[in-house]
Amino acid sequence: MKRAVFFDRDGTINEEAGYVKDLDNLVLIKGAAQAIEKVRKQGFMAILITNQSGPARGYYSEDWVNQLNNRVQDLLIAQNTKLDAIYYCPHLPNGIVPKYTKECDCRKPGKALYVQAKKDFDIDLSLSYMVGDKATDVEAGHNAGCKSVLLRTGYGNQVLDGTYQTIPNADFVADDIVKACDWIISNNS
Ligand SMILES: [Mg+2]
Ligand SMILES: [Zn+2]
Repeated sequence: MKRAVFFDRDGTINEEAGYVKDLDNLVLIKGAAQAIEKVRKQGFMAILITNQSGPARGYYSEDWVNQLNNRVQDLLIAQNTKLDAIYYCPHLPNGIVPKYTKECDCRKPGKALYVQAKKDFDIDLSLSYMVGDKATDVEAGHNAGCKSVLLRTGYGNQVLDGTYQTIPNADFVADDIVKACDWIISNNS
């Protein structure tokens, strides 16, 4: 079986920029590409798991979500690494676009996308990690049976000072994706 590091997107790999309508506004967090390549070299798959409720909110199309994800992938490829797989949830329970408005199991903290990745790639979730900037990322990782790292980038500092969501019981709190990946590697050597 394989193991994976699951990464959130916004505020984790790229700078948090709200609902992005211009591809140029999507930029990588410093060191993100190198950090991702480091865990890949250690034998982890690097897999994106992202909540993208823009389509449910009527902000933009699902095609645009794919373009945003492709932009992140292109930026990583330009720095000689890549995401091995990309999964996203376009839903929201209280959206306004009927097609995407529902209670689903794939929106984090739900675990459906992790379970799908496990099936697709034969991943041992108990040997895998989740890295993200929100309490819901930490909870999603735990719901899937992974260890979870909370970052201080993106919404992370607001989560940690109690002004956004609730403070989760992360297995580790890291300054950024670079420190998170270093911790994961040190935890596995
Ligand atoms: Mg995020
Ligand atoms: Zn969903």
